[in-house]
Amino acid sequence: KDAVEISLKDIDQLAKSSFPLCMRHMLDKLRENHHLKHGGRMQFGLFLKGAGLKLEDALAFWRAEFSQKVGSERFDKEYAYSIRHNYGKEGKRTDYTSYSCQKIISATPGVGDHHGCPYRHFGDENLRAALNKMGVGGHALEEIMDKVKNRHYQLACTLTFEATHGVSCDSGINHPNQYFSESQKVLRA
Ligand code: SF4
Repeated sequence: KDAVEISLKDIDQLAKSSFPLCMRHMLDKLRENHHLKHGGRMQFGLFLKGAGLKLEDALAFWRAEFSQKVGSERFDKEYAYSIRHNYGKEGKRTDYTSYSCQKIISATPGVGDHHGCPYRHFGDENLRAALNKMGVGGHALEEIMDKVKNRHYQLACTLTFEATHGVSCDSGINHPNQYFSESQKVLRA
């Protein structure tokens, strides 16, 4: 439904400019470990699909990373199916939609999981470091941490959007794909 269509070669650059923190984090971890557990593959995979990544590109994207860890044969055997499944090409052929913030925030990531919402699931120090890496500091950072302390995670994400884009986001952030498309709107204007 988004006008933007993303291609394989643009993912890293788009992540830097337009992905919300939850999705940046998963891309970082995927690049680092060449693997994501099921919860991460669902949350991140459906986000990429929602952002306009085509099935063929999605398969190439996950294959390039996973094959470094498990080998391409095992990737094709064990993981490709679920990616095709997310695109409605296998099983009941349901076209799965990406997760909202509410759903992501209420997830319960375990050890070794990288899905979830960083504002909700990161410790204080990790969150500060991650926000610093996005170029957020000073007063803006303290305001964000204050929202987090009061459990207003989506407001914290909205403030991050505003701090990194230099515009106000009156609608507020309620979906990672909305964050992405609002960002693209600002950057392409
Ligand atoms: Fe992702 Fe939503 Fe959390 Fe922002 S508030 S990091 S978009 S889950």
